[in-house]
Amino acid sequence: MRQATGSQRVVVLGSTGSIGVSTLDVIARHPDRLRVHALSANSRMEDLAGQAAACGAPVVLVPDDAARARFVAAWRGENLPEIRVGAQALADTVAEAQCDMVVAAIVGAAGLPSALAAARAGKRILLANKEALVAAGTLFMQAVRDSGAELLPIDSEHNAIFQCLPHHGVSGNRAHAPSEPATSVRRLLLTASGGPFRLADPADLQSVTPAQACAHPNWSMGRKISVDSATMVNKGLEVIEAHWLFAMPPERIEVVIHPQSVVHSLVEYVDGSVLAQLGNPDMRTPISYGLGFPDRLESGVGMLDLARVGRLDFEEPNFARFPCLPLCFAALKAGQGACIALNAANEIAVQAFLEGRLPYTWIARVIEASLEWQAGWPSATLGSLEDVLAADAAVRAYAGNLGLA
Ligand code: NAD
Ligand code: MG
Repeated sequence: MRQATGSQRVVVLGSTGSIGVSTLDVIARHPDRLRVHALSANSRMEDLAGQAAACGAPVVLVPDDAARARFVAAWRGENLPEIRVGAQALADTVAEAQCDMVVAAIVGAAGLPSALAAARAGKRILLANKEALVAAGTLFMQAVRDSGAELLPIDSEHNAIFQCLPHHGVSGNRAHAPSEPATSVRRLLLTASGGPFRLADPADLQSVTPAQACAHPNWSMGRKISVDSATMVNKGLEVIEAHWLFAMPPERIEVVIHPQSVVHSLVEYVDGSVLAQLGNPDMRTPISYGLGFPDRLESGVGMLDLARVGRLDFEEPNFARFPCLPLCFAALKAGQGACIALNAANEIAVQAFLEGRLPYTWIARVIEASLEWQAGWPSATLGSLEDVLAADAAVRAYAGNLGLA
């Protein structure tokens, strides 16, 4: 494979997932300016081997020796890439000089240590892993500011907002993390599709199956975020993500249901102007924006045909149908311990639901019970990665022992 020497070297964390696959698709379209330095995956070593062979990755990151053996057995290319084993290898690889940018696309708080390592190392970070910000917003944003890292959101809503904001967070063509909200901005409006149960009768949700919950009307995504979209925990996590990314107070962030998923989010200015970013629902648009910033790259996404879309609808979210959404707003207002509890309890509950051990409607109950339990903790600083991981582990143990999960 021919590789340009002046190109940017990308580490894709979680390359076998939905975001990872879309990222590699965009990178492959731009061999003149992008190349892969390393790929990571936690499972599906056959997929990882295929990806590494196709893009010529010099390094792959696998969780343990068993995965290493599966990777070697699955390898069909010429020379094996360097195989690094264990979680620490992720943090080390994103920090090394051969890495220019990191796509943080691991699912869940498991992605926090490596995303934080990229922030501390001052790299360009394309952040998909919203759970890292939810669990450790203060720590993560401080690391970005201290190191001068460049943080580009690729969650579609936040990418849309980033595109619509006055570029007060950009200097010298580098994106920086603002520490105060833009004064000309009144509100951020996050759009949400409403997921597969937007019109469902809440009484019918008790018997929902994982297949039904994962059948998103507009987006094709990993299973965890698909369930989060059905419960609207995803939107709640995104409210918290927007709070950190744009230094925006919770009362200036709103959620609006928009079933077509064409308007990806909006920024309302003090003069009454509302700017929105539109496009087909395909993550390659925000990913290519992050990979190319400040340039625009061809992404493979088809052009938006407005006449075919026909109409754009908007409605207020129904908190009775989506009880997790107010729980997320409450967690943001309560503070970081509550946000850690929200995220960890949700991960435990969603996993139990996907494995058939928990009814769908109990996801909200597990979150609520965990938030109530966490509220009784003595106030403590959560100033280090170790503090955050310890709090996260405590909530997981509690939620897993509720007798529900
Ligand atoms: P996915 O389940 O499809 O892929 C997850 C990836 O992370 C896989 O490569 C997997 O091997 C890896 N991984 C899982 N657990 C791990 C662990 N413990 N340690 C290391 N690696 C691990 O998930 P996805 O849908 O691609 O989502 C990834 C992240 O991006 C999530 O945080 C999600 O919220 C966010 N996101 C996804 C989308 C989307 O369209 N899929 C959109 C916006 C944001
Ligand atoms: Mg999103």
